[in-house]
Amino acid sequence: SNTLYLRVRIGDIDDDLYAILINDVSEQRRFEAVRRDFVTNVSHELKTPAGAISLLAETITDAADDPDAVRYFSGRITKESARLTELVRHLIDLQKAQTSQGVMNPERISALDVARAGIAANRVQADARHVDIRLSVNGKPVPLDEGEGEDPVEAPKAPAIVADKEAMNTAVKNLVENAIHYSPEHTTVAVGVSEQGGRVVIRVVDQGIGIPEQSLDRIFERFYRVDPARSRQTGGSGLGLAITKHCVQENGGKIAVWSREGEGSTFTITMPEAPEEHGGDGTGERTR
Ligand code: ADP
Repeated sequence: SNTLYLRVRIGDIDDDLYAILINDVSEQRRFEAVRRDFVTNVSHELKTPAGAISLLAETITDAADDPDAVRYFSGRITKESARLTELVRHLIDLQKAQTSQGVMNPERISALDVARAGIAANRVQADARHVDIRLSVNGKPVPLDEGEGEDPVEAPKAPAIVADKEAMNTAVKNLVENAIHYSPEHTTVAVGVSEQGGRVVIRVVDQGIGIPEQSLDRIFERFYRVDPARSRQTGGSGLGLAITKHCVQENGGKIAVWSREGEGSTFTITMPEAPEEHGGDGTGERTR
């Protein structure tokens, strides 16, 4: 609070220290404000589906002898519970990413493995929405699953990065999740891994609804949604991209987005390529 530095007598300390003290206090205050905002947002976000569930459950009790109504209201309960679950799951991810428990454990990993893990986590959703997921390395198509119909001689070399595996998997998982979520049925989501001049790029391209230009630099903020009503309906938490950005940045990478409304969006994660591994084949993949 204010009193902290008002009590410090300026004559007692040198200018540098004074500046640091003030800075510290305002930084801490800013952090406090962000934290308070966050808690308010979270409470609100949790209360909405929780309230809806209990209301819907009451309604079901009243309509118990109407099978159609029961079906309808249980469907809505299922949807609201899914939202609640997703919200909690994202909060845990965010918590992990932002505290010392989320200590990054950098290791040499294959960017292709990361892409595959991110896709695998979304296969059920993709199938349910008839979204076709494609995967490529340096422009060459590869199977979604490791080893599936893969010719070891023909298989393109996957670039390696040094990063926390879990954080990177989470980042790509969230991007693929959004790509599916914000696309109409029977479209394609293309995930590409490529290596260009010492950088590894993981790209997620969708043919979905796109993002309005004025929202592009806000979508990475916690709880920001282009269209809260639509997002609520489809079960978003507004946290996915904030988590993704954090995971990528903590591992020395960058995240970027291009989008055109009605045409689709492209998200890229750019990471430094792992230095050449001595004695290995440079892919960072273990040979079994
Ligand atoms: P949410 O849980 O709402 O999807 P995110 O943080 O993942 O939260 O995304 C924030 C907002 O950015 C979304 O609500 C949506 O409006 C927009 N968005 C994210 N990814 C896409 C995409 N691939 N296509 C269109 N809009 C997107």
